[in-house]
Amino acid sequence: MANLTPIITIQQINTANLLIQQSNRVVILTHMSPDGDAMGSSLAMRHFLESLGKQVSVIVPNAFPDFLAWMPKANEDIIYETQRELADSLLEQADLVICTDFNEPKRIGSLGDKLLSLSCKKMMIDHHLHPSDFADLIISYPSTPSTCELVYRLIHQLSPIANSPSPIAHSLSPIAHSPKGVQYPIGGTSSNIQDIATCIYTGMMTDTGNFSFNSNYPEMYEIVGQLVALGVNKDAIYNRVFNAYSADRMRLMGYCLYKKMQIFPEHHTALIYLSKKELYRFNFQSGDAEGIVNLPLQIKDIHYSCFMREDKVNPTEKALAGESKTKIKISLRSQGDRPVNIFARDIFGGGGHANASGGEYYGPLPEAVQRFLDNYRDYFNIP
Ligand code: 5GP
Ligand code: MN
Repeated sequence: MANLTPIITIQQINTANLLIQQSNRVVILTHMSPDGDAMGSSLAMRHFLESLGKQVSVIVPNAFPDFLAWMPKANEDIIYETQRELADSLLEQADLVICTDFNEPKRIGSLGDKLLSLSCKKMMIDHHLHPSDFADLIISYPSTPSTCELVYRLIHQLSPIANSPSPIAHSLSPIAHSPKGVQYPIGGTSSNIQDIATCIYTGMMTDTGNFSFNSNYPEMYEIVGQLVALGVNKDAIYNRVFNAYSADRMRLMGYCLYKKMQIFPEHHTALIYLSKKELYRFNFQSGDAEGIVNLPLQIKDIHYSCFMREDKVNPTEKALAGESKTKIKISLRSQGDRPVNIFARDIFGGGGHANASGGEYYGPLPEAVQRFLDNYRDYFNIP
C-alpha cells in the first residue's frame, strides 16, 4: 500500500503517544445515541489500547441500537443512563479519557459535566466542526468523513512507535511491529487485529452511507483495502448493519413515506415528523429512526430533508427544557453544496456537518414544525 498522507500532524502523534504511554487506566467516551462511527471509533481505540496492555473501558451516554450490538466488545460498554455509579468511579480512577466522535461536552448529556470535572488528561479524536477546547490534545479534522478513518490514521501512525521506548515518532512507516513481532499496519495483536479493523470499517461505512457520500477520494479505498486484508468481512458487516431491521422499523418507514412525508417541490425539500403516539404504535426502539431522514433524498430533485420526532426530556436537560415536557429531535440532510448546518444552528440551536446536521427543540411538536415551515425557505434556496 502506498504511504497514506500523514493528515494528523507529527506533534499530535507524539503527544498522543506520550499521553498513552503515561497512562494505564483509560476511559473512552462517545456521543449520545451512538451510531456506527461512535461505536466503531470508541471500540477500535479500546481494542488497540488493550493490545498495548492498558486497562480500558468504554462509556456511552445511553443505549446503542441493536443493529450494532454484534460489534466486538460492544456488550461490555457501560451505559451512563443506567450504570452511573460504575461509570463515575471508572472516570474518577482514569489517567486518560479519550473522547471519540464528538466535539463538545454538551453532546454527551450529563456525562459532559462529569467529564469537565475530571483533572486527568483528555484527548479528543473527532471530525465535527468547531471543537470546543476541553481536551489536552485535540485531533479534529472535520474534512475527514468519519472518526473511524481518523482512528485508522492515528493508530497507523502511532503503531511504529507505540511499543518503542522513545516517545518520538521518527518515521511514518506503514508497517507496525506488534509486541509479538507480527507486522500489522495498525498495531494490535493476532488475537484482536480483526476486531480493530472491523470496528474501524463499520464507522467508515456508516458515516458515508456505505460509501455513497463524502467518499470521493482514493485513500479511503486504500484504507478499506487494508482493512479487508486484515480480515474484515465487509459483506457481513453490511448485512448486520443495514439488513437488520425489525418488522416494526420497516413498517414505521413505510408509514413515514406513505402517510407522513410532505414535499415542497419548489424548494426541493421534504419533511417528515412523528409524535410519541405514532412512535409507540410502531413499538419504537432506540435506533429505529436512523435513516428515515435520508429516504426522501432518493426522490429526484429532492435535495433537502428534515425529520423530526418527539422524544422524552432527559432529567439532565431540565435547564434547557424549562417547563417543557417534550423535546423534539431534529435531523437534517442535504446533497451536494447545500449546507443545512447553518439552519440547524440558527433555528434549532444545533449544528453538525454541512450535509448532515441536527438540533433540538424544547416544546410541542406542532411548534417545532411551524418553526421549520416559517424558516426553511430562507435557508434551503439552492435548487
Ligand atoms: P443525526 O441526524 O444523525 O441525529 O445527527 C447528524 C449530525 O448532526 C450529528 O453527527 C451531529 O454532528 C449533528 N447533530 C445532531 N444533533 C445535534 C445537536 O443537537 N447539536 C449539535 N450541535 N449537533 C447535532
Ligand atoms: Mn461520526
